[in-house]
Amino acid sequence: MPVPEPVVVAFVGVFGAMLGSFLNVCVYRLPRNESVVAPRSRCPSCGTPIAWYDNLPVLSWLVLRARCRHCRARISVQYPLVELAVGLVWAGAVWWLGPSFEALRAALLATLALGIALTDAQHYTIPDEFSLGGLGAGLALSLAPDGRPLEAAIGAAAGFALLWVVKATGDWALARGLIRGEELDQVLEAGEKPTTLGLGDLKMMAMVGAFVGWRGVLLTAFLGSLAGVAVFVPLLLLKRRAPVPFGVFLAIGAVATLVAGDRLLGWYGSLVAAGGP
Ligand SMILES: [Zn+2]
Repeated sequence: MPVPEPVVVAFVGVFGAMLGSFLNVCVYRLPRNESVVAPRSRCPSCGTPIAWYDNLPVLSWLVLRARCRHCRARISVQYPLVELAVGLVWAGAVWWLGPSFEALRAALLATLALGIALTDAQHYTIPDEFSLGGLGAGLALSLAPDGRPLEAAIGAAAGFALLWVVKATGDWALARGLIRGEELDQVLEAGEKPTTLGLGDLKMMAMVGAFVGWRGVLLTAFLGSLAGVAVFVPLLLLKRRAPVPFGVFLAIGAVATLVAGDRLLGWYGSLVAAGGP
């Protein structure tokens, strides 16, 4: 694939930044069960509708110096960072993979992963719009000329099934009293039914599987668990107990699989082959 024109990469990057702006709206509104199309964006502090020239990705935040034009309330740095990140993801995908369905799939999965990581970290929820909507998009894109629809369907089923087994095993252990802890006692005292994984995690992994196939699902779960352990063991040592937004780590695993999955699986395959008969 020849390196695309810088103009094409820049154009796709601007599109990505605008998509990142929409992702900000989704991350804010979906967990609150608000529509992402209407009404127009407003300042959360004073409620003034935001004019288009104050809503340009990254630029407006810089020009307004992180404050609302009307009430001077602070605008979170999360907004321009998400716009910048999604812009770079889309530009990078086209730069490396050329203007192709492969680039579109990679950029879309990374964008969905970022949206899921943000909503799960901030609200402990994974909106169906990201998981099931992404699943539909992944399956549809597998019908493209270079796509593998059977692999996508098997990947989606594998992603759901793998986490279902993890959830069923964990919930069984919970019910048997094999897992103990202060947090669990609090949940039981509140009269809630304890659970290990949310349904959102299962739907999310079905979505990931539609993009990366069943091998990618296994790698995503493995890398996601590694990331989870790397973050949570130090937190446990510091005695800061908090619910685990597992979707954040699955999102990290999915992006790592997207970037390095083929190399990691090839490396693992050569290890197995070298150790085999
Ligand atoms: Zn304001």
